[in-house]
Amino acid sequence: MLQQMTPAAIAVLGSCNMDVVAFADRAPTLGETVAGRRFATIPGGKGANQAIAAARAGGAVRMIGAVGDDDFGRALRTVLGEAQVDAGAVRASAEPTGIAHIVVDARGGNSIVVIPGANGTVTSLTAADEAIVANSAVLLLQLELPMEAAIAGAAVARRAGTRVILTPAPVQDLPPELLANVDLLAPNEHEIAQITGIDEPREALRAMLEQVPEVVVTLGAEGCVYGARTQGGTLHVPAPKVEAVDTTAAGDTFVGVLAVALAEGRNMQEALRWASAAAALSVQRAGASTSMPKREAIDAFAA
Ligand code: ADP
Repeated sequence: MLQQMTPAAIAVLGSCNMDVVAFADRAPTLGETVAGRRFATIPGGKGANQAIAAARAGGAVRMIGAVGDDDFGRALRTVLGEAQVDAGAVRASAEPTGIAHIVVDARGGNSIVVIPGANGTVTSLTAADEAIVANSAVLLLQLELPMEAAIAGAAVARRAGTRVILTPAPVQDLPPELLANVDLLAPNEHEIAQITGIDEPREALRAMLEQVPEVVVTLGAEGCVYGARTQGGTLHVPAPKVEAVDTTAAGDTFVGVLAVALAEGRNMQEALRWASAAAALSVQRAGASTSMPKREAIDAFAA
């Protein structure tokens, strides 16, 4: 059982999207129409998801990003507020709120189209944003904001001694000036295969360690594998066996919760185990931000 301590300060520089979700037996192929079973609008975006996951796990989370002056933007602010995420640095943009258009199939798999909207306007950090990053233990980055913002955020974090965790999704070229300031890269197995061109996750992980000091690759129901430049070998942490209903935000839950554990000073193995418990809980419920477990539930499941 973990002791409650001063909440770990986490900064998230990332996207806020409304997830527009169709639930169907299977995703349509090109040119095909399939009948769906259900439709939902669910607040998401990798940034907001990781922020909410971290806040529910007990982190003191401040989010930097942008939403539009529209219903989706207002809904996102409400959800962030309900999760106790400080959204004071989420700008109001003239662009519409970002959208993620998602199909969830009967086996809980998903395919996604992201339209950035307001997220695309975040190209630099204000002085207030920089102070948030500098005063946090961990900065969480993903690649749903313009690359300039991620590069700027990571540079501020490095100067301040804030640990940077990057989820390299959606996959794109990773500029050396970004990777130079990343402490831990957290791709899933598909992302690291695309980035490195190597299909075997452990092999891809080892290749990636030439560019960043630490890597954790998530492997869905197989759990995750971690490696560090300073250690030989890799550490495999299996995922708890559960019935998956919707894996939409499993990776974001994993990373958000991992950030809290690391910011609290826990060792990597313990942090990975706690994050795996949280992610396994999240896949048993539908939705992104709505499926993330609270600290007490994670503790109970991880015990
Ligand atoms: P993403 O959401 O980015 O596709 P993964 O599918 O690799 O990422 O899932 C992230 C983490 O979520 C995994 O490392 C694991 O801890 C957990 N997870 C995902 N799917 C399952 C599952 N079916 N059962 C248990 N845990 C899961």
